[in-house]
Amino acid sequence: MKSPILRKLYLLMLLSSVCTVAAENLREDLQQDIRYLSSEKCRGRSYAAGGIFHAERYIVRQLKDCGIRVFRQTVPYTINVTLETPLCVLNGDTLRPGYDFIPHPYSASFHGHFCPENMEIYGEDTLKILQDSLDLFSVSAVRRHIMQTRDGQKRSALLLFPEEDILQSKQDKRYYTAALQIRASLLEESPKELVVAHRSAYKKLRSHNIIALIPGSSDSLIMLTAHYDHMGDLGTIYYPGANDNASGTAVLMALARHYAEDPPACSLLVCLLTGEEQGLLGAEHFAASPRYDPERVICLINLDMVGSGHKGYGMVNGAACPKEAAILQEICETLDFGECRIRDNSPNSDHYPFTKRGLRAIFLYSSGGEQPYHHPDDIAKTLDWDVLEQTVFLIREFIDRRSAALKTVAGQ
Ligand SMILES: [Zn+2]
Repeated sequence: MKSPILRKLYLLMLLSSVCTVAAENLREDLQQDIRYLSSEKCRGRSYAAGGIFHAERYIVRQLKDCGIRVFRQTVPYTINVTLETPLCVLNGDTLRPGYDFIPHPYSASFHGHFCPENMEIYGEDTLKILQDSLDLFSVSAVRRHIMQTRDGQKRSALLLFPEEDILQSKQDKRYYTAALQIRASLLEESPKELVVAHRSAYKKLRSHNIIALIPGSSDSLIMLTAHYDHMGDLGTIYYPGANDNASGTAVLMALARHYAEDPPACSLLVCLLTGEEQGLLGAEHFAASPRYDPERVICLINLDMVGSGHKGYGMVNGAACPKEAAILQEICETLDFGECRIRDNSPNSDHYPFTKRGLRAIFLYSSGGEQPYHHPDDIAKTLDWDVLEQTVFLIREFIDRRSAALKTVAGQ
């Protein structure tokens, strides 16, 4: 089909037929899946409170109900778990955990009264100067460096890290240092007194990668990955992770449901991975001991945070996958899904361990949204369901085109 107008018409007809057949259920399914995964029951898909196992059971049941074969791969890790809701009272005012403050994820347990003499405050400006002098890649890395250098020293001071927004981050280490991240605006006047209490423990835990194979008419594989874990909870406060990454998980489940009924030309390996938030642990584990033949893999598409924003998509590592990037760009352009921009490769999601092993992998995310990140307000209610549906259509069209190309060009 040479004419771009004819091609656009064809695609729009295809899309509208796709819409009438399945779209009524698609939005419902996306909403049901994301609402469950980001619910209080799943508690931020936490390891400690067992929320991740509710999420795992839900995903496996949904896939099996479609007749899909599923296997699980155990992923072990060690996490600095918060054991109860942390307390912070600043100059007599009780602050809200998750919103006004969090114990640093690598912090030891601590409690007591702190006054200016035994607080060490590291504002963003100080951290940026230290970042340059220490040649570290981010201010978060500087915070961790400060804690590490204090590790094992006599614990008399509380480290305070004022920040514009309080973001939760990985909890894969623990230092014998007491540290708190606190909203910078609360420290505009020098703190007179802080009463704090935090209990954490370094625990060995395990959860599972969920892998589903959908056989197609060819042995060639397209791999689809999305992480379903998130940041867990802080006692009564939990991190719903609706966009990060219940969104990508739900899109993969929608694709699995579709192709279970209508098998694709090439086979699909749908991988719902754990441990991403703790350093891509599930993806590393699966990539290091793959239960697939890398020779059969055409490409891998990783979805992480696809539930917000109307400014098209970012394609991390797109330059290393020119054929796949061009197909995604053409679909986005033809169907008015916004620009699809190529980004440099980065270890910022689950595609990365596979790229290290030579697989053609793209990490796709939706651009331009204002959904809170690693924050208790990343909730289902504020997601953009049009973007989510659109992402399902984008990947379906990509899979259909990429596998159609297999039939015409031998050896790919
Ligand atoms: Zn995340």
